[in-house]
Amino acid sequence: MKEIIYEGIIFKEPDFIDDMKYQSKTRVAIKNGTLKKQPCEICGETEVFAHHEIYSDYLNVRWLCRSHHLRLHAIFRQLNPRVLIKT
Ligand SMILES: [Zn+2]
Ligand SMILES: [Zn+2]
Repeated sequence: MKEIIYEGIIFKEPDFIDDMKYQSKTRVAIKNGTLKKQPCEICGETEVFAHHEIYSDYLNVRWLCRSHHLRLHAIFRQLNPRVLIKT
């Protein structure tokens, strides 16, 4: 698993996943309060998205705002076009 440094923070290349069942599990965990949203790791923005590094470990997420999340995924997509990632 590759690691990159983005805005001074280390991120692991997300694992490849071909179904989205873990995403909906994460969504449920956020809704029922199991998983608490944190500010964006990079800029502190509070409107955040859950970013997965290991999809099956769906409660282990990184919190990123929309623009940092999109940029991070763009970087990973350049490294490995096979990495299909939504969040
Ligand atoms: Zn941000
Ligand atoms: Zn993500």
